Amino acid sequence: MTDILEYKDVKIRYLGHSGFIISKGEHNIVIDPFLTGAPAAVKKPSDIRASDILLTHGHQDHLGDAVEISKNNQAPITAVTELSVYCAEQGAQTIMVPVGGTWQYPWGSAQFRYAMHSGLLPDGKPFGQAASIFLNLGSVKIYDLGDTALQQDFKLVGEIYKPDIAFIPIGGRANMNINEALIAAGWLGAGIVVPIHYDLYTEGSVDPFEFKNKLESTTNIQCRVMQP
Ligand SMILES: [Zn+2]
Repeated sequence: MTDILEYKDVKIRYLGHSGFIISKGEHNIVIDPFLTGAPAAVKKPSDIRASDILLTHGHQDHLGDAVEISKNNQAPITAVTELSVYCAEQGAQTIMVPVGGTWQYPWGSAQFRYAMHSGLLPDGKPFGQAASIFLNLGSVKIYDLGDTALQQDFKLVGEIYKPDIAFIPIGGRANMNINEALIAAGWLGAGIVVPIHYDLYTEGSVDPFEFKNKLESTTNIQCRVMQP
């Protein structure tokens, strides 16, 4: 059964890999819903109720089933320019936000920040800049790092924006490895960290509990390894 991370008036469910549903009131914000063909996913696209879909970038393990979920729910996809154009061409409603831009929603705001990553859309075209996403839901601030290397910007985010919860990739290869993710967690200063991106495209096998044990034995940060 999907476990739920409850923080104030927000509920967070993990979809596996880098996917989440963040619920506040009647709003369900779906991030990077990679379900079809995903090793850790237990839900199907038709199971997902979404009011907004946010994408960090256009790799298939993040874009995933976003277009189908968008159509099923009449819910717009928010993404950076090139990726939003691609999703619109597939028939989805879209909201276009540049990296560095912020969009306001009924539930709060999402700022698309830099992620140290790049790549191609399924049709072979570039998807533009990859992003991390800083969500401000009023009562809770969540920073989803997306796919990225360790970067100085995390210090700025920790100092200025002060996230309560951070989703941090730990798989290595295209992302931070566990040791880099530990540094990122320290810089961000979020009280709760959820490790992501450790079930696919990793550098060897990656154990999220190794990350949890190292993080919790050296800091006061709580690590939640979530079950989809
Ligand atoms: Zn990825």
